Amino acid sequence: MSDKGHDHDDGGSRKRPAGLLKNEKLVWDVLAASRDPLKAYEILDRLKERGVRAPMTVYRALDGLEAKGHIHKLDGLNAFVVCNHEGPHVVQTFLVCESCSTVKELQVVAVEADIAPAVRAAAFDMHTARLEIKGHCRECAAAMAAA
Ligand SMILES: [Zn+2]
Ligand SMILES: [Zn+2]
Repeated sequence: MSDKGHDHDDGGSRKRPAGLLKNEKLVWDVLAASRDPLKAYEILDRLKERGVRAPMTVYRALDGLEAKGHIHKLDGLNAFVVCNHEGPHVVQTFLVCESCSTVKELQVVAVEADIAPAVRAAAFDMHTARLEIKGHCRECAAAMAAA
């Protein structure tokens, strides 16, 4: 497993996964087009002109997309991002910039390799493990160094 999973990192040209319901497609498109994580009401805002008006519609689509592993919820920000991995994965690792609030998803195999056996040893049925690493992104760190 190489760690070259970020070569399609441009954010704008992600391919929409197959098998989505109509509203899931709308919500996925909004998230995939956004550079930053979006809260449910921000997604609803962007879908109003496309005829989506009920918050429940957005919540249901978010639930569906999350269950299928196509998006992740960031608890700390209460916002959602599109998954940049090939398939669903239970261990999710994010770099969260505290200055510009961009979020980048990492694939850290070591985290998964360490967490899964420990969880199994505790006889716990794990659904997700989410790690939000807070700090400053490259751009913000550079801007601060220059200031
Ligand atoms: Zn992911
Ligand atoms: Zn930043």
